[in-house]
Amino acid sequence: MAAGPVLVWFRDDLRLADHPALAAAAKSRRAVIAVYILDESTERPPGGAARWWLAGSLEALERDLARHGVPLVLRRGSPETIIPALAQEAGASAVHWNRRNRVAAAALDDRVATALRRAGVAAEIGPGDLLFDPATLLSGSGAPYRVFTPFWRACQASSPPPTPIAAPRRLIAPETSPESERLQDWGLRPGRPDWAGGLRAAWTPGERAARKRLRRFLATSLASYRRRRDLPAEPGTSGISPHLRWGEISLRQAWHAAEEQGGKDAESFLRELAWREFAAHVLWREPDLAERPLRREFSAMPWRHDAAALRAWERGRTGYPLVDAGMRELWATGYMHNRVRMAAASFLVKHLMLPWQAGEAWFWDTLVDADPASNPFNWQWVAGCGVDAAPYFRIFNPILQGRKFDPAGAYVRRWIPELAMLPARLVHTPWQIPDAAPDYPPPIVEHGAARRRALAAWTAIRR
Ligand code: FAD
Repeated sequence: MAAGPVLVWFRDDLRLADHPALAAAAKSRRAVIAVYILDESTERPPGGAARWWLAGSLEALERDLARHGVPLVLRRGSPETIIPALAQEAGASAVHWNRRNRVAAAALDDRVATALRRAGVAAEIGPGDLLFDPATLLSGSGAPYRVFTPFWRACQASSPPPTPIAAPRRLIAPETSPESERLQDWGLRPGRPDWAGGLRAAWTPGERAARKRLRRFLATSLASYRRRRDLPAEPGTSGISPHLRWGEISLRQAWHAAEEQGGKDAESFLRELAWREFAAHVLWREPDLAERPLRREFSAMPWRHDAAALRAWERGRTGYPLVDAGMRELWATGYMHNRVRMAAASFLVKHLMLPWQAGEAWFWDTLVDADPASNPFNWQWVAGCGVDAAPYFRIFNPILQGRKFDPAGAYVRRWIPELAMLPARLVHTPWQIPDAAPDYPPPIVEHGAARRRALAAWTAIRR
């Protein structure tokens, strides 16, 4: 009897290269059937912008697999029932997938593996997308790192992450395959109103686009990364975060490609990749990172509940140009420059004293790179309640941040047309000239007063 096909279960690793599970399936010399399951119960369901991305990414994966004659079977529901049922329907001898280092996801994978093995189907689990194993990258005392610098030193001292493996040259197409649901029926893309025009203009999901973006960054911007990475008006960073989020490119691929170039700028870029890794290791230990402050005293923070202020922040109408430009970039493109993310997040938490979870939720819904680890990790970092967080009392001044990182005002003018005519000297403080920008709102809070209010609240919770 001919051996059955193998199923390869794709999750947030939507690529063919450096995909250990797919490589193992190719090596088995069996026919391959690819599967993707939209599972909205085990983990946090993706937000609107990420769902838009996922649709494009699945289409790209389907096209890339089709070149090998391999079908992508789409299903919605619980993998615990769907995977064993599909294995049975396809007469599969094995199911391959790559590990995910998140508590609920890993527990689900264990249950699926048990169900398969009970049914006499092999479950082959390949390494996940982290660079280092959170179970073994520990401090000298055997504890997980809570501070980034020693974590980064430990990464540098460890043996390097495995070299990426090439995409399989050949995959065997199956004779038949279980039926697939239709991607259009999943409603991942917006209907009416279609808010995704700016996302389509800014991004192309999929493995090819991911590799192209990384190549272009390495060729044109890596050499000036340290000088330009904090300047939001310049194309100084890689823009690979949404591709990494869905695993269209692996962290190993990005790491090795940059390391090969060598030099101080490459090292600075690797350090940023390590922040992503650090956030993932923290989430592994702290599964409720998006809900609970890691520094528990912050649960007592007297957050305000002010729907109008939250809406002004979301819409980019706080009256602080750097913050508003960032929020409008986010709404238009699903992305915001890191420096501006820090300023906008800090403004919400400290100037407006709104809970960081509200900002995290907005970013979760609107970022194309919304990541279950990096997003809450960074929000907690900005709010001062995370591990190795920016101290709460260090309150970003949005005017000075603007002058420092967008000195000519080019970024602000790009995203706030109402301020396009203002000279650089006024672009971060338009209220200084009455009627200079009649359509732009006055500051929602006065910086000095807001700062004092935030510090008083922080002093109170420390008592
Ligand atoms: P580059 O400068 O080219 O950096 C390369 C890669 O390093 C990034 O793609 C990213 O994977 C990683 N990286 C860089 N900085 C960080 C960081 N601070 N934390 C974690 N990884 C980092 N990043 C996300 O990928 N998803 C999120 O949901 C997310 N939410 C954030 C929320 C807030 C409040 C803040 C302050 C930052 C957040 N970040 C998040 C981190 C960072 O802003 C983005 O990773 C970065 O802007 C992506 O742009 P890039 O790919 O051009 O970065």
